[in-house]
Amino acid sequence: MKEQIWQYKETKIQGVSLAGTYSAYLLPDQLCCIDVGQGFDWLLNVHQYFITHGHMDHAAGIAYIISQKNMRHHPKPQFYMPASLIGPMTQIVRLWSQIEKFTYDFEFFALEDFKEISLKPGFKMRPFKTKHRIDSFGFSLIKTHKSLAPEFQNKNSQALAELKKKGIPIEIEKEKILISFSGDTEIEFLDMNPHLYESEILFLESTFIDDKKTIEQAKTWGHIHFDEIISRLPYIKAEKVLLKHLSGRYSLNRAEKILDEKLPPAWRQRFEVFPGR
Ligand SMILES: [Zn+2]
Ligand SMILES: [Zn+2]
Repeated sequence: MKEQIWQYKETKIQGVSLAGTYSAYLLPDQLCCIDVGQGFDWLLNVHQYFITHGHMDHAAGIAYIISQKNMRHHPKPQFYMPASLIGPMTQIVRLWSQIEKFTYDFEFFALEDFKEISLKPGFKMRPFKTKHRIDSFGFSLIKTHKSLAPEFQNKNSQALAELKKKGIPIEIEKEKILISFSGDTEIEFLDMNPHLYESEILFLESTFIDDKKTIEQAKTWGHIHFDEIISRLPYIKAEKVLLKHLSGRYSLNRAEKILDEKLPPAWRQRFEVFPGR
């Protein structure tokens, strides 16, 4: 296992991704993390953790991260996860607490569809429901900035200062979806949320990519087959489509070749496979 840093424009992701084995992605500039795999030391310098779902390859490291962060006297870590995961995960952490004879400080929060969570100033995370074998969410990382509301755009600076003094809000928040992450999911989450196609980067699970596995087989396990992404190309506005959670049956080289064969040439350069394995 070797984590890698992938970057497009201003968005940086450090992580590892291998179906059924581990998934963890650190956003070093936004100081948060999506999924934690088995809990790795390069995930420990942030305090907001977003968990897509409870499968062990994505969430097994929660207790380990809590223990490490408490031992290092870091601020209390915050974990955002599907509501149905909070009870069982609290029991797991409680049992580790008994074993280690140490009381941990941590917070678990239930994700709600489209209920945004603030990150460091200028960024927020927007969860959205996806469709897997257990409760699952994806996340949009959103960059925000303030701009003058259109009705005040023809006012001079003195008039604006007056309005501000009176407490009248003259700015509105504008946003840009830098990246949308799927967790493990079937493709239908995209049909349910077509605005995700507009994200600058679309980071999609694509567990199976060749013809040795069928779309039906991918669906049986709640996953996406690459052919389902290809059939949605006309809708995709994202500048980059990054594939992750590929089955171990594909080496990175093999995966790149399959993309060469299956994608129309005009699309090929917009698609990449996440390099951390
Ligand atoms: Zn998985
Ligand atoms: Zn899963």
